[in-house]
Amino acid sequence: MKSQSSETYSPNLEDQLKQELEKPVIIGLENITKVYGIGDLEVRALNGVSLTVKQGEYCSIMGASGSGKSTAMNIIGCLDRPTTGSYYLDGVDVAQMPEDDLARIRNLKLGFVFQQFHLLPQLTALENVMLPMVYASVPTAERRDRARVALTRVGLENRLQNKPNQLSGGQQQRVAIARAIVNRPVLLLADEPTGALDTKTTQEVMDIFTELNHSGMTVVMVTHEPDVARQSRRIVVFRDGQVIHDDLTPEDLHSAGF
Ligand code: ADP
Ligand code: MG
Repeated sequence: MKSQSSETYSPNLEDQLKQELEKPVIIGLENITKVYGIGDLEVRALNGVSLTVKQGEYCSIMGASGSGKSTAMNIIGCLDRPTTGSYYLDGVDVAQMPEDDLARIRNLKLGFVFQQFHLLPQLTALENVMLPMVYASVPTAERRDRARVALTRVGLENRLQNKPNQLSGGQQQRVAIARAIVNRPVLLLADEPTGALDTKTTQEVMDIFTELNHSGMTVVMVTHEPDVARQSRRIVVFRDGQVIHDDLTPEDLHSAGF
């Protein structure tokens, strides 16, 4: 390689930093508050939360019960709106958007995975994964193909016709992940995705998250399990409705008390 062109071929540290800085912001929370109830019954579930997550990050949210994790996830996932503060999701100001618009954004931009899978029991794995595309008005012929590809991606190509009660917990969660990614969301959100799984299936599910992130998917996950959080790349910690750690590495987790 000629020295004059070597710069083009091996990005130096400065270029790498520049690339990081130029990545689009997927989640931009600014000074968010969420107050439930009024008067004496008022609960300040979030009290000035600011958080930026960029494209391609893999982030865990930890914190004691009641610290505001689910409230924050509901706002990030456009299932709820903040009391005050601004939220830019993939460049769009969604903080005070009407419910109909939020529902459309949820369907187009977000994928959800929950602790309890939330699959429809009367539908097969394939049909469960096809469902989000009905709302996204994907042509019928394409739905089946894309659902099959998504289920293959999570290792369930041999379980397409099984109903949820014919699948193990880990398999059901993999169907739920396939359903979450089938519309190619800009952001995958998971609230305690391994909370109902044993150690072995937990690892299977975590391996899928890691693979999805390596292929470019932005992932944000709530977990109370340090061993699960350690598999992400950045850990955010909530306490009393505030972010007390914004960017712990998996190696930092132990010294932060987890
Ligand atoms: P976490 O997910 O970290 O356990 P939450 O976000 O569920 O915490 O709750 C944060 C605080 O807000 C808690 O004090 C909780 O009791 C309160 N809270 C959550 N949801 C509601 C609600 N719908 N109405 C009133 N208070 C709520
Ligand atoms: Mg919670």
